[in-house]
Amino acid sequence: MQDEEQVIDQAAQATVDLGNQIADQEQEASVQDIADGLLSGAIHYWLYTRQPCDDPRCPDCAPLRTAEWRLQALQQLADELARSSEYFESPNDMTPGNA
Ligand SMILES: [Zn+2]
Repeated sequence: MQDEEQVIDQAAQATVDLGNQIADQEQEASVQDIADGLLSGAIHYWLYTRQPCDDPRCPDCAPLRTAEWRLQALQQLADELARSSEYFESPNDMTPGNA
């Protein structure tokens, strides 16, 4: 059985592999459009898995009990994942004093 970290890494790698596979098959397609589609699917899947159960007092689901709270959790996760990405900063980024 895989631990949680391995499952997360495997799912992330499979998503990147799928993007590369689509880009190989659809030579005319924009990789940015492919990325938008992957992100859309990932967000739909994430929201699907965060639907609260039917017990209004369930402590596990309490932080995800409203659509806005789920959106906040998603935005926080997206922020963390973006900032930890090797592609977060680019050598071509505008730097202060270089505008
Ligand atoms: Zn619950």
